[in-house]
Amino acid sequence: MSKKVRVRFAPSPTGGLHLGGVRTVLFNYLFARQHDGDFIVRIEDTDQNRFVKGAEAYIFECLQWCGLNPDESVLQGGPYAPYRQSERKEIYRQYAEQLVKDGRAYYAFDTPAELERMRDLLKTKGSSSLQYDHHVRMNMNNSLRLLPEETQQLLDAGTPYVVRIKINPDEFVPFTDMIRGEISFDTNAVDDKVLLKADGMPTYHLAVVVDDFLMKITHAFRGEEWLPSAPVHILLWQYLFGLENMPQWAHLPLILKPDGNGKLSKRDGDRLGFPVYAMDWADPVTKEITKGFKEIGFLPEAFINLLAVLGWNDGTEQEIFSMEELIAKFNIEKVHKGGAKFDFEKAKWFNHEWIKKLDVSHYAERVKNIFESKGITIADDAYLKKVMELVKERCTLLPDFFTQGNFFFQAPATVDTTSIQPKWDEKKNMFFVELIKSWQLSTLWNSGELEISFKELAAANQLKTGELMLPLRLMLVGGKFGPGVFEIASAIGKESTIKRIEYTLALLQ
Ligand code: GLU
Repeated sequence: MSKKVRVRFAPSPTGGLHLGGVRTVLFNYLFARQHDGDFIVRIEDTDQNRFVKGAEAYIFECLQWCGLNPDESVLQGGPYAPYRQSERKEIYRQYAEQLVKDGRAYYAFDTPAELERMRDLLKTKGSSSLQYDHHVRMNMNNSLRLLPEETQQLLDAGTPYVVRIKINPDEFVPFTDMIRGEISFDTNAVDDKVLLKADGMPTYHLAVVVDDFLMKITHAFRGEEWLPSAPVHILLWQYLFGLENMPQWAHLPLILKPDGNGKLSKRDGDRLGFPVYAMDWADPVTKEITKGFKEIGFLPEAFINLLAVLGWNDGTEQEIFSMEELIAKFNIEKVHKGGAKFDFEKAKWFNHEWIKKLDVSHYAERVKNIFESKGITIADDAYLKKVMELVKERCTLLPDFFTQGNFFFQAPATVDTTSIQPKWDEKKNMFFVELIKSWQLSTLWNSGELEISFKELAAANQLKTGELMLPLRLMLVGGKFGPGVFEIASAIGKESTIKRIEYTLALLQ
């Protein structure tokens, strides 16, 4: 029987959640759902120096907004709790001790000053690398060089130490990546990484391997930036648990700057004026807010869709995918090896498509909040939805509903009469005076009837409807935009329509 699929997203709570991180979650999530597996979120917070207050709760809020909820995590618990590494501190030590006992790791007592001296010495010798590895370790203050009783004495005296992995030179560490195929690392390029720190906390390298084992992770998908760490992880698997238990790896391609020149960073977003975080992130120290996709008005369906196709497609021209379709069609082995350029214009296109595709009730609450934040109270939700249906073709981001639709709720603050004036004359003025009279008597207030009566009146006055529609639009909307002008009149109602016409006629006098 094959093992139940178990995948994990293992964020370190250090700040805003980058879109690359959400894409990693998405690919994990899709794979889990495809295989009736479990999706676990494990918080990797063993680096106390990088810990940021609030970042963990924020990550879960982002996942919830995206609809990527875990099956096991610090929120709902699960059979392998705790899911926060800082609460698992005691578990890791025994594995570090085991590695020392097996000759795969060693105690290192070097002080920061001694490490500095080592690097200075390597520098003066013109050495190409300044690493703690097989070249230097026999000159350092560690249990490989010291006699066993010397080591014991230092340990008994409570001397601070770290545990380092002992990397053998001249070996090859091969593994199969689900996206990249066969990969092999030369151990000469790998240093003796710290596994257990002086404060008793494991480093990421030890903790990730131990937890992937204990939590029975079958597939580990993560960003390409972790590829250089893979040999250390594979050696730890080999030394501790045997390679047959190791998860299958997939290192996901980077998301690149729009020009393809390197990894997309928060700074690129600031510079180019688009978000790179899923949701607004408020730095707890500086209080500075970095904008997120949600807050600038993206729909989660669009955000998921655009992330899915950053580095993947199903081999056809299809670009719009719902979560259900992605679960059915996504294939981790078809993810591209090369980085994917991020294009904000294309991202907005996805949002526009999803705004059109979804029923407005999916996002009416958010649009209502936007209106209310701008001082327009929505008393009638059905009316808001009707307006949204009328203008959604013209909206790319949710705040566009306000710019495209605010005149449905209030008379325009200014009317662009300069666009009417040049061709305005007494005949047109009379037409609108008569129109008011005719519409005042109208009992059927709908766009079809309004259009008919408008055209009949124009014909009776020997005027071209084309020359009257623009003035009417400017009277009702304030500017040259918006959906069909009779739709607008019908929606805002008789009283508002007539008031707005009268107001502009007065302005034109
Ligand atoms: N804690 C790592 C991170 O912050 C996880 C890398 C992995 O998935 O192995 O991305």
